[in-house]
Order: sequence, then C-alpha cells, then structure tokens
Amino acid sequence: MNTYQHDWHTSEGYDGGLHHCRKCKRSHQGPRLEAHDCPVSDAEHHAVAWLGHAGLYRTRFDAVRNFEQSVTPVSVDELFELASKQILSQINEGCQRG
Ligand SMILES: [Zn+2]
Repeated sequence: MNTYQHDWHTSEGYDGGLHHCRKCKRSHQGPRLEAHDCPVSDAEHHAVAWLGHAGLYRTRFDAVRNFEQSVTPVSVDELFELASKQILSQINEGCQRG
C-alpha cells in the first residue's frame, strides 16, 4: 500500500501544538511529524468524483456500494474534461440521428 505525506493543519494554544491531518483525519500532539505514512494521496484528497468501470461516482463509498473493484480519483479538471467529452459525444449522436 502506498503512503504519502500528511497534510498537517496546526492548531495553536496547545503545548507543542495540535496537528490534524486534513487528508486522513489523524491527529497528533507535539512536534510536527515528518512521517510519510498518510494513507490518503493528494489526488484522492482533492477528488471531486470517482471513476469506476460502470461510470462516475460522487464518493468512493458510492463506488464500493456499486461493487466497483477499483476506482480512480477524479480531479476538478478531469471531471470537466470527462463532462466535455460526454456532451460532445451526445451532440455528435444527435447530429447522426437527425
Ligand atoms: Zn494523513
């Protein structure tokens, strides 16, 4: 399993600070850890949708619920690209039929 650097967000007012990873929700108090053992990649964290064999899903949980074996995180840019292709293919279909 791949691991990544945590995206620590530090709250002040605690001894040594309280660090909270915005990706995996792990929290840690004291000096900031430089460990690269976060299970969530940046791509997954920034995913706005998930692409599986049967199509797009809003969340990874939706994909798992639809028995998807493997899903790929989709960024905003990728989602826009997919949507553009979808619209273009629909327009082309319409032209061929009409
Ligand atoms: Zn993390």
